[in-house]
Amino acid sequence: MPTLQSPRSPWPLIILATVLLVALAGYKIHSSLLPRAADWIADSIPDSVRQAIGERSLQTLDDTHFSASEIPLQRQQAIQASFNALLQEMEFGAEDYQLQFRRLGQPNAFALAGGTIVITDTLIEQLQPQQLDAILLHEIGHTHHDHLLKHNIRTSIYYLSMALLFGDINVVDDVLVEASVTGLSLNYSRQFERQADDFAARALIRHRGTASSLISALKRLSQSEPSNPVSWLSTHPEVAERIERLAER
Ligand SMILES: [Zn+2]
Repeated sequence: MPTLQSPRSPWPLIILATVLLVALAGYKIHSSLLPRAADWIADSIPDSVRQAIGERSLQTLDDTHFSASEIPLQRQQAIQASFNALLQEMEFGAEDYQLQFRRLGQPNAFALAGGTIVITDTLIEQLQPQQLDAILLHEIGHTHHDHLLKHNIRTSIYYLSMALLFGDINVVDDVLVEASVTGLSLNYSRQFERQADDFAARALIRHRGTASSLISALKRLSQSEPSNPVSWLSTHPEVAERIERLAER
């Protein structure tokens, strides 16, 4: 008597295919569509709003973290002149960028929305003028590529979609906190850091013939910085890899 072979159930394959498809769609949305949507939103934000966000961020940081700079006025003026010269070399309008000096107790520099770049006294005290220029160029690169807004919008969209997906409205708190951090303890993506490094290196090579001041600034900071959540290196990890990448240029 012939045996009847029961047909194999197709369900395990269908479920596996569905899981793979959802995972692939999720990866594609996260790696490609979401960044593009965020960049499109960032590009459509008017400069006046950008400016207002930057001013409010600086006010918040002044209220919570910063105190007035104690760098002598003459030194501040020299750094400001050097900053203006960098902008001029790149044919950027000096009115689009504002340099701010603050005391934080840690070496740090970061770009706020609207063209404000903050440098701390400790950073100035630890770096030679050319090394400071290199770090300023890195921060000008973040501003030029609008990294802060793009990062915050990407993060907001990501968390809000997670909140909607899992019904966890508490995640919205994280979004608001993230958006208000505004650079002080911000970890940009590796892509943004490379873009800012490349921007600085290109400018240094074009105008000084070498990007060695950026490399030496990174080395200097990595030798001297204690681990602190508000220091520049804590927001700029993978220094060895970055130095290696820059040295290959
Ligand atoms: Zn950076």
